[in-house]
Amino acid sequence: MTTSRDNSETALKVIVVGGGIIGLATAAELSERGYAVALFEQGRIHEATSGNSHRIIHGGLRYLQQFQIGRVLRSLEAKHLAASQYPEEIVPLPCYLPVTGRGLQRGAILGVAGALYGMLSTLAGYPTEWSAIRSNEVVRELSPYFSHLPYRKAFQWHDARLKDPSALAKKLRDRVIAGGGEVKEGVRVEEVAPASEPSARSQWVRTTAGEFFADAVVLALGPQHGTVRLSPKRKEGRPQMWAKAFNLVLREELVRDVGVGIPTARGAALFCAPRSSGHDGPCSAVGTWYVPVPDQTVELVVTEEEQGKALREVSESLALPEPLSSDLVCGVEVGLLPAKGVRDGEPELMASEEIRAHDGVWSILSTKYTVFPVIAREIADAVGQYLSSER
Ligand SMILES: Cc1cc2nc3c(=O)[nH]c(=O)nc-3n(C[C@H](O)[C@H](O)[C@H](O)COP(=O)(O)OP(=O)(O)OC[C@H]3O[C@@H](n4cnc5c(N)ncnc54)[C@H](O)[C@@H]3O)c2cc1C
Repeated sequence: MTTSRDNSETALKVIVVGGGIIGLATAAELSERGYAVALFEQGRIHEATSGNSHRIIHGGLRYLQQFQIGRVLRSLEAKHLAASQYPEEIVPLPCYLPVTGRGLQRGAILGVAGALYGMLSTLAGYPTEWSAIRSNEVVRELSPYFSHLPYRKAFQWHDARLKDPSALAKKLRDRVIAGGGEVKEGVRVEEVAPASEPSARSQWVRTTAGEFFADAVVLALGPQHGTVRLSPKRKEGRPQMWAKAFNLVLREELVRDVGVGIPTARGAALFCAPRSSGHDGPCSAVGTWYVPVPDQTVELVVTEEEQGKALREVSESLALPEPLSSDLVCGVEVGLLPAKGVRDGEPELMASEEIRAHDGVWSILSTKYTVFPVIAREIADAVGQYLSSER
């Protein structure tokens, strides 16, 4: 790797491809561990999927629905790690979900799930996660938009939210640079192959800014997963299909410092969360809607028809006397997420990330923002182990 200022000619060199949350966090972790890291991002850092997420750092309570205990514990760990590393950017978020009495949204089921979640968090050594069933008045009083919600009770728990995505991205970039690494924007990586020089164990990396060598390469390409040419051809575990995921940002302060799940007729819950006030004043984001798409080359556009349908669903779910007007929409956050297939017209999202390692090249297909500190640590451990075993 021909970095302009190799902090040490002897430091083992790692190239990280992709400046979303996963690539940035991994590069920061590696840089702090003393590797000479270069991160290549084809556009601007944290502006693709990661810049369009709903910004909820899930503690994993929702995974109890499928009894995925491992996933609950992983999310709990990620939530606590992220909040302790970045207390200014990741803040607690009290959340409410009106109890509809249907399916898993029954008071008794939510109560048991809450108690189990509290127990798991305590047993795992985290501060106990408290939840409660409360009167739905607490939600109705949050805003006139919630005042027509017909339900009697609401379930309360705590997640966290990413308050300032660009501040978090800057902190991660600063961590890479403080460790002696570099972050290059506007550089696309096209091919990675084993190199015979400078050492038989090196990787050769072809980019739009020239050719580089590294001891290890980490691919964190988000929805561009599988598009960098790998030689010899390696199986990448590509998802069956993709889902276009989007949130609408509304020019209204539906919620200030809490999150509210809005139960829908199709049995899902749309989530309403605060957005920091821009020049338009306080906003709220509601979502997430998912539309199945066959591959990753689709244009990321949310049509007026899709927005209209989404607004109708929110209005109906809130039992509003007048439907929400499209004039309220001041932004759309959209990205692609890996999916397993389609059920009843809805994409079935991939449950958890896939990490593949092949002789010095790691490839991460991520599914959640939340788990970034845990993935970064795991990849840094694996890269460290690989590099020390090679030499
Ligand atoms: C609408 C929406 C709501 C969501 N809400 C939540 C939520 O509330 N909580 C949660 O935990 N998760 C949420 N997610 C999921 C989460 O946003 C993603 O899982 C996560 O951001 C993916 O991060 P990433 O770093 O893997 O990918 P990305 O952020 O897409 O980053 C990949 C980067 O790689 C770059 N790249 C790709 N190919 C190359 C190349 N060849 N050379 C150089 N650079 C390249 C891209 O330009 C991009 O910047 C949501 C997603 C969406 C779309």
